[in-house]
Amino acid sequence: MKKIGSILSVIAIICFIACKNNINQENMTDKNNNVLYPKGDKLSNDWFSGNAFLTPLVAKDKNNEFSAGSVTFEPEARTNWHTHPKGQVLLVIEGNGLYQEKGKPAQPIKKGDVINIPENTEHWHGATATTKMVHIAITNYKEEMQVTWLQAVTDEEFTAANKTTD
Ligand code: MN
Repeated sequence: MKKIGSILSVIAIICFIACKNNINQENMTDKNNNVLYPKGDKLSNDWFSGNAFLTPLVAKDKNNEFSAGSVTFEPEARTNWHTHPKGQVLLVIEGNGLYQEKGKPAQPIKKGDVINIPENTEHWHGATATTKMVHIAITNYKEEMQVTWLQAVTDEEFTAANKTTD
């Protein structure tokens, strides 16, 4: 009986360690949010609705007339409407989201999609109401200018955009 008791104890300890590791791994994934890059710092609600985060990856320098960064949008998070003077490329690396140009229906975007945004075109990008989305944003400079921020995407606009994904 004693022997069975100690075998059960060993099994219980192994289960405990296994479960604990599992939980730790989940927390790690959640903390970093995606496997490629850390989630980074929260972006200002002056220009983003909800919870959006940025990890800068490449800064403008003597060779690169652009910057690149990983942007994480939690569900419901999105940019304001905005334009880029020399355009922008988005590489979706995680999840499902939305991209919309002014006057056009919103389009669903997902991991692997590449969006090539023309210059001076009013648009927004972000998560859906229920799913997160992570993209690399490669944003060109025109001299020192990269973006002109406009008004927020209203809840009505966001709700309508989400209906295109149903
Ligand atoms: Mn943009």
